[in-house]
Amino acid sequence: MDRRSSIAGIFRTVLTAGPMHRADLAWRTGLSQPTVAKLTRSLIDTGYLVETTTAGGPGRIGRPAAALDVRADRELFAGVKVTADALIGVVTDLRAVIRQTARRPLGDARAPRDVVRLIGELVPPHVSALGVSVAGDVDRDTGVARYEPFLGWRDVPLAALCEEATGVPTVADNDIRALTEAENWFGTDARSFVLVAVGSGVTCGLVVDGRVLTGAHGVAGELGHVPVDPRGPKCYCGARGCLEAVASEPALLRRIAEVTGEPAVTLDRAIELARLGDPRVGEVFAEAGRAVGQAVGGVINLFGPELVVFSADHLAGFALLEPHVRAGIAAHAYGAAARVAVEVRPLPFEEWARGAATVAIARRVAAVPGS
Ligand SMILES: [Zn+2]
Repeated sequence: MDRRSSIAGIFRTVLTAGPMHRADLAWRTGLSQPTVAKLTRSLIDTGYLVETTTAGGPGRIGRPAAALDVRADRELFAGVKVTADALIGVVTDLRAVIRQTARRPLGDARAPRDVVRLIGELVPPHVSALGVSVAGDVDRDTGVARYEPFLGWRDVPLAALCEEATGVPTVADNDIRALTEAENWFGTDARSFVLVAVGSGVTCGLVVDGRVLTGAHGVAGELGHVPVDPRGPKCYCGARGCLEAVASEPALLRRIAEVTGEPAVTLDRAIELARLGDPRVGEVFAEAGRAVGQAVGGVINLFGPELVVFSADHLAGFALLEPHVRAGIAAHAYGAAARVAVEVRPLPFEEWARGAATVAIARRVAAVPGS
């Protein structure tokens, strides 16, 4: 390992698992104790690490060994999640603890330049780096949003435009992948997990052995375009019977409008009808839930994760899907893979913006100055 990646490894380990003693750090990173001593010294000199004396522990004789911790306020980061109608922004510290939040409606702004101008107004100048996340196909390495389905963007050099507007180094990423990165760095201890988002679209982030999968072409985890019904409705992507064409919120509402004859039915109204026992509406939710469970069951069989986390835009709506999702998973998960833990968690858009900030933090950590 070269010096830069050794420093980054040390810094990431203390950031995500600290405070810890140098000996533990050597064990966790696989570096020698003298190397750890030397590299942590330079991280202390540049103000990224501090020594704390709180971790001596009982039963130790003499002076307790100093533990190392990250100076979380050494740098601040901004994260912005772009939805179809709003920007959601956060400022975080190095540990991705949210210090500030802001929301800004997009109004008529849909063109990339207009949205980027609003991002420029939202992001404070004192942050070290910015992460911007959008739905769809985003190339993190080049910062290009190749396809954003809600705003209809194609091949937008999003990171470069945001850098120009804010003056801050920017990384752009797919939104669920960014949210998954935050969970991977600062959330669950699980080394292999799937984070599924059900709402205006259906998508997932995949973590295998501690790494978020990006795929060879920057596309991975497009759960919404996994086929679940060869005779199902046509999807906006051009294919037929995608999960998203069956279980996304617009797909659900289209189907419920058909069965009830209420063309302007809202999700709240649909939930009310289902709760009042309307069997036609109940069956639409059940069908969608089973489809989600079937698709996630397939993912579980392929990757064997410890944990599946469901995040729903609308928790009351997800509550109607959930028993069918769980039944679908149980019906399709193979053998011991069915031991997977399944959690449902509210993850508001501020958490998605925090995910975008985490991608910026991750890039910073990879290049943390240590000498
Ligand atoms: Zn599709």
